[in-house]
Amino acid sequence: MTLADELRIVLDGQWRHVREQSRKELATFGLLADPSLSLDEACDRALDQMKKLVPTGIPAAGFRKEQGGTGDVGMSVTGIEMLAQFDLSLMVKAGVQWGLFGGAIANLGTQRHHDAYITDLINLDLLGCFAMTETGHGSDVQSLETTATYDPGTQEFVINSPTPSSRKDYIGGAARHATSATVFAQLSTGGEGHGVHCFVVPIRGKHGKDLPGVTTSSCGHKGGLRGVDNGRIMFDNVRVPREALLNKYADVAEDGTYSSPIDNVNRRFFTMLGTLVRGRVSVGGSAGAAAQVALSIATRYALKRRQFEAPDGKEVLLMDYRMHQRRLLPLIARSYGLQFAQNELVSTLDRLQSSDDIDEHAQRELEGRAAGLKSVITAHATRAIQECREACGGAGYLTENRLTTLKEDTDVFTTFEGDNHVLLQLLAKELLTAYADEVRGLDPVGMVQFVASTVADVVKERTAAQQLIQRLLDARPGSGESEHDLLDRGNQISLFEEREQHVLETVARRLRRASEDKSKAFDVFNAAQDHVILAGQAHIDRVVLEAFVAAVDRIPEGEAKTLLDDLCDLYALSVIEENKAWFMEHKRLSTERAKAVTSELNQLLAKLRPHALTLIEGFAVPEQTLGAVMLEY
Ligand SMILES: Cc1cc2nc3c(=O)[nH]c(=O)nc-3n(C[C@H](O)[C@H](O)[C@H](O)COP(=O)(O)OP(=O)(O)OC[C@H]3O[C@@H](n4cnc5c(N)ncnc54)[C@H](O)[C@@H]3O)c2cc1C
Repeated sequence: MTLADELRIVLDGQWRHVREQSRKELATFGLLADPSLSLDEACDRALDQMKKLVPTGIPAAGFRKEQGGTGDVGMSVTGIEMLAQFDLSLMVKAGVQWGLFGGAIANLGTQRHHDAYITDLINLDLLGCFAMTETGHGSDVQSLETTATYDPGTQEFVINSPTPSSRKDYIGGAARHATSATVFAQLSTGGEGHGVHCFVVPIRGKHGKDLPGVTTSSCGHKGGLRGVDNGRIMFDNVRVPREALLNKYADVAEDGTYSSPIDNVNRRFFTMLGTLVRGRVSVGGSAGAAAQVALSIATRYALKRRQFEAPDGKEVLLMDYRMHQRRLLPLIARSYGLQFAQNELVSTLDRLQSSDDIDEHAQRELEGRAAGLKSVITAHATRAIQECREACGGAGYLTENRLTTLKEDTDVFTTFEGDNHVLLQLLAKELLTAYADEVRGLDPVGMVQFVASTVADVVKERTAAQQLIQRLLDARPGSGESEHDLLDRGNQISLFEEREQHVLETVARRLRRASEDKSKAFDVFNAAQDHVILAGQAHIDRVVLEAFVAAVDRIPEGEAKTLLDDLCDLYALSVIEENKAWFMEHKRLSTERAKAVTSELNQLLAKLRPHALTLIEGFAVPEQTLGAVMLEY
């Protein structure tokens, strides 16, 4: 087994068999995006590609056996993530069909919906879209304006778009292929509103024409994702039967009586949304996969391309320039760390969604972590892919070398499935209130009152590596020279932990002050918003480090372990370096120690440089999948 194989195995994690299957099988399907196609051709091609995926078992894995699937959540999420190595339009279109449309029916519906739709949607006999966002409201989905008014006379819901801003917008599948939509709308019955609920609404007939009362249109050219038919939908008093309500969390009786096991409108809505967490997990994982493709391309190029003569007369490889190492190696290290954290997230998702017992606290933690990781991984992808594009010079700008397509296609990942800034606030809110039950669905003002009296415990509530991390912290060097050793893992963990705890505690203190005067709560929260977001970010930085440390621990003694250990140091030091100002302002790093961070980091780059190829081989993106012509010369 090669060094790269050992790295690949630890990176692949629990669903390694799915990744291996994808690498072998998907690579033979010719899935790489074709940028020369028109928009319609690209969308039709993506749909054709989806048909090839049905026999792989990946679509069925996302649904429980009793619903008509095979019940392997981890396989389903990992399978979708692997598509991102080939074509992000395909990944998104598949994610919309099986993850969002299918996920809404599976998780918000009951047996009558499962029996009616799931087998067909797995096999693509029913094509759907997920119609939540409206022109007027995206992040604030509780304020959607589409209405679903119950008519007891006919036992139907009337779905209507009452204002121009209530138009469903950006909806994947709505422009061309979807024949049904899961539509989120304000439910009212007997003149009383009950908040946003989800309904299955047919939108197109067999021949692709809009059904009566439905008007669809295309969003036209976008910044990327050419193979996704994003569109708009307006409803003009469209009638659907009472059974169209996905009624797991609320139902309307024939006479119009509304019932739900969850009394509070906000809590009900956020509980419903929470069940759809899988989409967010897939988007994070896929962005991570795309970043790995870009880093594989740029690093391979840097190991071929030479510029300027060295004193020995030979031209220098790009990868031998310190600056190039600075640009690529820390991003590679971060990609490893994020993959380890993502793998842990997928394992937790699989465990929780495969169980019939609802562990409310674990579910909340999962939602918070999924929000935070999605945000951090998609931001990383945007940054890494841009850096890779520049690192390949002019060649990086040619479409034939794929980086520009990766850039365009992943750009919107920071926005959809929840805007990153909104998601980091969601995570911070969970941390600040220690997942308090009452807080679910509260707005910032309401949430301020619940800020936990001690947030320190949240930091102590560790990841899977609990005992290992404690051992490393306990083994930190005592006072003396090595007390400040930046390569000591315990010292690194302690710096990450102190930052997270300090940021959380100080923001909690600011918000607690506001809870005494409710009229000022919004202003105080708003003034502290950057601080709140930093709390979410610092938490994820620590979660990623712990996942990395656990991965190093898992790998058997030997060369691969040493390499991964150095890479983990590089991740830790690059985060510390990026946040040097914070560590110095808060007296966690002296000026001398802060300078040492940079010199230690540079030494690590020199140490890791000879392993650059091995490190990206660990990502195991099949060579034919890279699709960059410049690598052939
Ligand atoms: C290509 C594409 C595909 C999509 N596919 C679908 C789909 O299939 N189905 C679907 O339902 N939706 C879909 N969407 C919609 C997507 O989920 C929304 O665009 C997203 O949720 C953001 O909403 P918005 O566009 O209204 O932005 P806004 O909510 O208007 O946000 C704009 C900016 O304001 C900031 N902001 C908003 N609120 C706050 C706050 N409280 N504090 C601080 N800053 C804030 C955000 O950070 C953001 O930068 C898609 C969008 C795109 C572009």
